[in-house]
Amino acid sequence: MQAAPQSADWVARSLKSVWHPCTQMQHHETVPLIPVSHGRGAWLVDHDGKRYLDAISSWWVNLFGHANPRINAALKDQLDKLEHAMLAGFTHEPVIRLSEQLSAMTGNVLGHAFYASDGASAVEIALKMSFHAWRNAGRNGKQEFVCLQGSYHGETIGALAVTDVALFKDAYGPLLRNARVVASPDARHALDGETAQDVARRAAADVEALFAERAGHIAAIIIEPLVQCATGMAMHDPLYLQLVRALCDQYQVHMIVDEIAVGCGRTGTFFACEQAAIWPDFLCLSKGISGGYLPLSLVLTRDAIYQAFYSADVTRGFLHSHSYTGNPLACRAALATLDIFRDDDVLNRNRLRADRLTAALAPLADDERVRHFRQRGMIWAFDAVEPDAARAATFSRRFFAAALEHELLLRPIGRTVYLMPPYILDDDDTDLLAARTRKVFDEVMGA
Ligand SMILES: *Cc1c(COP(=O)(O)O)cnc(C)c1O
Repeated sequence: MQAAPQSADWVARSLKSVWHPCTQMQHHETVPLIPVSHGRGAWLVDHDGKRYLDAISSWWVNLFGHANPRINAALKDQLDKLEHAMLAGFTHEPVIRLSEQLSAMTGNVLGHAFYASDGASAVEIALKMSFHAWRNAGRNGKQEFVCLQGSYHGETIGALAVTDVALFKDAYGPLLRNARVVASPDARHALDGETAQDVARRAAADVEALFAERAGHIAAIIIEPLVQCATGMAMHDPLYLQLVRALCDQYQVHMIVDEIAVGCGRTGTFFACEQAAIWPDFLCLSKGISGGYLPLSLVLTRDAIYQAFYSADVTRGFLHSHSYTGNPLACRAALATLDIFRDDDVLNRNRLRADRLTAALAPLADDERVRHFRQRGMIWAFDAVEPDAARAATFSRRFFAAALEHELLLRPIGRTVYLMPPYILDDDDTDLLAARTRKVFDEVMGA
């Protein structure tokens, strides 16, 4: 009998045949690659039996742990009924129930759900829908989009055009129809004596100046509400969203909120927008909506937008599709995810979990090599003070590798260390996560 392949074998084979995402492949000459054998709860286990606490929810998608028994059961049941059917000319129970439930969760303000498979596609859909809705209303001049400094909305060509992260964007500059960039409301931009609300007012004034000049050409502004995640967990005051909502109404510009990362309870409410008591014209969801199980994304929108496309004329319709639009398995995973939110009172219990982790991280927050320790809902972040440019450039990779040695999956963004754990950490895992994060930080800063 042949021995089962061990981690080293899988790594060698993967590096030969799999081109990994968001990776300079040559870095794998020094940075480890972890072949995952299985997952259980908050933990991933490799082929040598080593375990890793998934403290970033596998790129922010996993909410209730790996191999969650309730989501597994729902999927097994769905698998024997319907794995997939096209959503043009056909419909099915999981997509109907999911659309109804999400609509109800917005007080039926965002009562129409359009589906895709990944986050970037949801962003593309919102942009196209906004442009086309204005066009159908006879406002052909509204062809521009506005995004925030440091924004990230995905990496397809259209989504990249409203993304402001040089690392992802610069190489493709010639291909992009760039959006206009307005100031970020990032609370770290506060000047001496300024509050986060002051920063929000200043950033909103930047939006107003642009709208006053160009609103006739602008279709929509796209915002990741409360936390700009991919740029390094930049947090802002909810006031900013209220001010922009009012400006959008005043100047007739659509408001797109990208809740792909911050939705599904991540910031403490199910939708981040709820903390500003506003609703956008388009809301994009993905990542956590399927519990981290299957690719699923969607755009929720208002009846007025829907009506702008409703016509006897086929070309006034929204003729956009993806093959796996509204996949029944993915929708069923999403329904099971929403059931868990309800049955387990997740948002309230997360408050207790968050309090415990924040308390356990207090020594790190007070460390003099740490700046801007911040938290919202189930997101924690801080910036490492590393004056040496060469060490700063490799901080993230060195931290990732050191964390693995301490059974943690953590991938800092630049010098920003962040935790985005699934919503199932018990007290022991919480304390372990805080203590080991501290240890890894000490090692990486001291080495
Ligand atoms: C991840 C992400 C996207 C892109 O989603 P993909 O599924 O990776 O295409 C878009 N916007 C935000 C805010 C994200 O975090």
